[in-house]
Amino acid sequence: MAERVYLDWNATAQVRADAQAAAAAALAVCGNPSSVHAEGRAARRLIEEARAHVAALVGGEPRNVVFTSGGTEANAMALSPFMAITDETKPRDRLLVSAIEHPSVLAGGRFPREAIETVPVTADGRVDLAALEAALARLAAKGRKRPLVSLMLANNETGVVQPVAAAAALAHAAGALVHVDAVQAAGRIACDINEIGADLMTLSGHKIGAPRGVGALIKRDQALHFTDPLIRGGGQERGARGGTENVTGIVGFGAAAMAVRAAAAEEQARMTALRQRLEAGLRARAQAVVFGADAPRLPNTTLFAVAGIKAETAVIALDLEGIAVSSGAACSSGKVQASHVLAAMGVEGVLAQGAIRASLGPTTRESEVDRFLEAWIRLSKTLLKRQPGIAA
Ligand code: PLP
Repeated sequence: MAERVYLDWNATAQVRADAQAAAAAALAVCGNPSSVHAEGRAARRLIEEARAHVAALVGGEPRNVVFTSGGTEANAMALSPFMAITDETKPRDRLLVSAIEHPSVLAGGRFPREAIETVPVTADGRVDLAALEAALARLAAKGRKRPLVSLMLANNETGVVQPVAAAAALAHAAGALVHVDAVQAAGRIACDINEIGADLMTLSGHKIGAPRGVGALIKRDQALHFTDPLIRGGGQERGARGGTENVTGIVGFGAAAMAVRAAAAEEQARMTALRQRLEAGLRARAQAVVFGADAPRLPNTTLFAVAGIKAETAVIALDLEGIAVSSGAACSSGKVQASHVLAAMGVEGVLAQGAIRASLGPTTRESEVDRFLEAWIRLSKTLLKRQPGIAA
């Protein structure tokens, strides 16, 4: 039987061999990192090494990295009215998010529903900076001068890279703090916390080849702190997140961060070439529409549709051929619902229902892209024949 072709790296990446080896070695270390004895200190050392690697991936400082259970928790932690720089006491009073954020950001963290405002995106899937500026000005005019703005660096469905540095400049000028969800961008494009100007940045281990269930929230400045942490407990993570650390996951995360940083430039070029090959094939032989095609995008992500083909059917048909892709966002797969990202971009519902995401990763080869194309072109003819009134 032919080997499976995994093209769903935005859902989760295959665990890197180096991360797997580091995590397995960490399993053999018994101490609680909070214990003062030698075993505890050994576990602590592993965590601090990993912290340095994760910080380096985004140009941050190790002491500003807070390990979490993943991107979702880091987003929930970041979206808090109860954060302050030095000795501020007033909570943040408004949350601005773009319409294409991950559900964990759209949920708004600990902001009450009525304090959350959504900023639209343009048809190419990028946050509308003029609308953001206008929203910030409206808040300032109402005397609400302490908003938090949360934007993703790259969208998980389309791969469209957002103008976060420009957005951060606008937000800071209006007195806002800025959180950037860099879960899909990290390791795929540059994401330096200082260059972007993010006050807080979210990462998720399993998108870069670490085990699932570990992530981080990274602060740009040590002075920023949470006055009421999301998870209170034993004071771990400098009081920012209670709970004994997931040593195994954190060590795997550190190893993966180090590896993706070392390979970044080479991987970016290789991935871009593979994606171009995939999209050229889709356009030439399958009349596919690629969403966000004219915007800057992650080198590994293609979201496409062919009018008349439903994504749910196509994903199952491809799976039977040994190929794993997803329909829209993997986080919402299993629930058949139109993509909020494509809806925000103004894509017609019928076409949006056909959106299929192929996302590539470090082990993806040309031969796998070609196998996907061959299967897709063959299957799409059959699937189109099944739709009344649509010619193959
Ligand atoms: N943010 C984005 C942009 C994502 O794509 C995801 C997961 O798909 C998350 C956050 C959540 O990360 P995790 O799966 O680690 O909770």
